[in-house]
Amino acid sequence: MTLLALNNVEVVYDRVFLAVKGVSIDVPEGGLVALLGANGAGKSTTLKAVSGLLKPERGLVSRGDIHFGGDSIAGVEPAERVRRGIVHVLEGRRVFEHLTPAENLLAATSMHRNRAKVATLIERTFDWFPSLAARKASKAGYLSGGEQQMLAIGRALMTEPRLILLDEPSLGLSPRLVGEIFAIIRRINQEAGVAVLLVEQNATAALAIAETAYLLENGRVVMSGPAAVIADNPDVKNAYLGGD
Ligand code: ATP
Repeated sequence: MTLLALNNVEVVYDRVFLAVKGVSIDVPEGGLVALLGANGAGKSTTLKAVSGLLKPERGLVSRGDIHFGGDSIAGVEPAERVRRGIVHVLEGRRVFEHLTPAENLLAATSMHRNRAKVATLIERTFDWFPSLAARKASKAGYLSGGEQQMLAIGRALMTEPRLILLDEPSLGLSPRLVGEIFAIIRRINQEAGVAVLLVEQNATAALAIAETAYLLENGRVVMSGPAAVIADNPDVKNAYLGGD
């Protein structure tokens, strides 16, 4: 079943600049979909259209529609989208630097939630991210870039989403950490059944874990299909996978 469907979505900035030009993307329930493309192709803008994080005075979904779980989410406030199960991890790990990892996780939960349930969710996060568990006593500002990225993803998962939107989780990380983060993303998808829409410039790593992929160029989808087929495409190899 389709969980998220973008149908011919256009996003315009400042009333004049068309950043996303009629994009259609499907994310199946529990699926793992990669959205690839160069800088400025419109990937982040597409994610913001889904989470509702476009700044209304600047960016606007000017055409098309977005359905989540079968319902249109046009006009639905970002906080309500989170309640419905959409969570967005923005580019560039934004954690509360003066709080410990557990305090960061706690800050992502509503005050009304059952304490035992929150404790279980925090435990689950430390189980997924053992390197975070090892740094439990440190303030988040002292964690490495990779650990902060893990914390940002862990915090998003505290909302128990049906869909997580990940914007460049590998940005600035060492190859070892990229491998670790991608293994965790796959595990979250497979074990917790959370659907993933993954924006990445590291196309090789993204295509290795995704089921399907879309390639954006200049605000348009220029290619889509099974990740293995996209990874094998000679043009993609040359332009995005460093040839072979
Ligand atoms: P990157 O990896 O650099 O973030 P991207 O594929 O995510 O690239 P977007 O950030 O979605 O691309 O940007 C798409 C286009 O929209 C770019 O030309 C960018 O300059 C423009 N743009 C992005 N955000 C805004 C904004 N808030 N106001 C005006 N134009 C914007």
